[in-house]
Amino acid sequence: MKKLKIGILGATGIVGQNYIKLLQAHPWFQITDLAASPRSAGKPYFEAVKQKWQMSIPIPKELKNLIVRDVQDLDSIPDDLSFVFSAITMPSKDQVKEVELKYAKKNIPVISNNSAHRWTPDIPMIIGEINHEHVSVIPIQQKNRGFNKGFIVVKPNCTLQSYLTPIFALENAGYKIDKLIITTLNAISGAGYPGVASLDVIDNIIPYIGGGEEGKTETEPLKILGKVGNKGILNYDSIQISATSIRVPVVDGHTACISMKFKNIIPSKEEIIRIWDEFKSLPQELKLPFAPTKPIIYLENEDRPQPKKDRNNDKGMAISVGRLRKDSVFDYKFIGLSHNTIRGAAGGAILNAELLKSQGLIT
Ligand code: NAP
Repeated sequence: MKKLKIGILGATGIVGQNYIKLLQAHPWFQITDLAASPRSAGKPYFEAVKQKWQMSIPIPKELKNLIVRDVQDLDSIPDDLSFVFSAITMPSKDQVKEVELKYAKKNIPVISNNSAHRWTPDIPMIIGEINHEHVSVIPIQQKNRGFNKGFIVVKPNCTLQSYLTPIFALENAGYKIDKLIITTLNAISGAGYPGVASLDVIDNIIPYIGGGEEGKTETEPLKILGKVGNKGILNYDSIQISATSIRVPVVDGHTACISMKFKNIIPSKEEIIRIWDEFKSLPQELKLPFAPTKPIIYLENEDRPQPKKDRNNDKGMAISVGRLRKDSVFDYKFIGLSHNTIRGAAGGAILNAELLKSQGLIT
């Protein structure tokens, strides 16, 4: 099969580098365009990233000398791009919104990691295993905005992946959840490069993460669990979530400690583990290249999941859970873990692109 030519906006950052690593041998997609800020524009990629390159592999040789484009230079976008992944940070969310809309207007679908458009009602925020049917809002978005082939799809905040799929699996099995109290232990790479200063985070934890991290953890699930209406996504309003987010000295892998209270029927521990164990969704049915075989892996050992040992489960795309036990205030508590730059960022967005291709929305 002829591969689709694709671009990375924000190719020099942590998430951008992860795309380059993960897409090296992708069966459907081939990176042919790299773009970043004016600081990097005009330089060969290897020179633009220099010591910022954080991946465990060398820069792929076909990309090493590719000249980085300025994200804002729309005239230099190659004609044959099928779509772009957006992993840019900019001084304001409005600037990111504007850039992504401009690409969509130029007939280039944008699959974004940035939070700027997460609350735009006609832009879906997708986790492939949970709300793949939200892609049906894309024709509404195209009509609303006069887009022809272009559109924008976003990924949620990286922290959500560590607990939302296990929660969705229970809801989907008929065990409705009333309340969640969540404490997240976020890895350093979640802050991008260079991220948190080493003197701040070594031998320490930081009980605050800027950028509205706790608010995102509390509210983004409501859009993801929502339904498609005539004008966009209608939020789910049936779960209350309270979140605390803490930065910890772990390089990759966000951990979440979750206490959950059910609405009516409380399943047994064995039933919860069975539901997680058997959970599969459309990406697994379609056997998409980046779909984990088992989206949720329950680890029986009482000292798991651990970031160092479990973040790379199933190519970094599986959610590892463990320590399911009774909660003395709510009904149960458990620990969830996901790889923030893979499942929570580049890998999750690649899975979304595969889903969109399988639905004929990118060609
Ligand atoms: P990062 O390491 O700081 O990289 C930022 C990228 O944006 C770089 O390529 C940078 O290019 C580019 N950029 C900066 N200013 C720009 C401008 N004015 N115009 C155009 N491009 C500009 O950040 P990151 O961690 O990769 O995160 C990228 C996005 O993904 C963010 O929106 C972040 O919230 C989101 N995200 C991150 C994670 C994670 O775990 N890290 C997870 C989920 C989502 P230069 O190198 O040229 O400055």
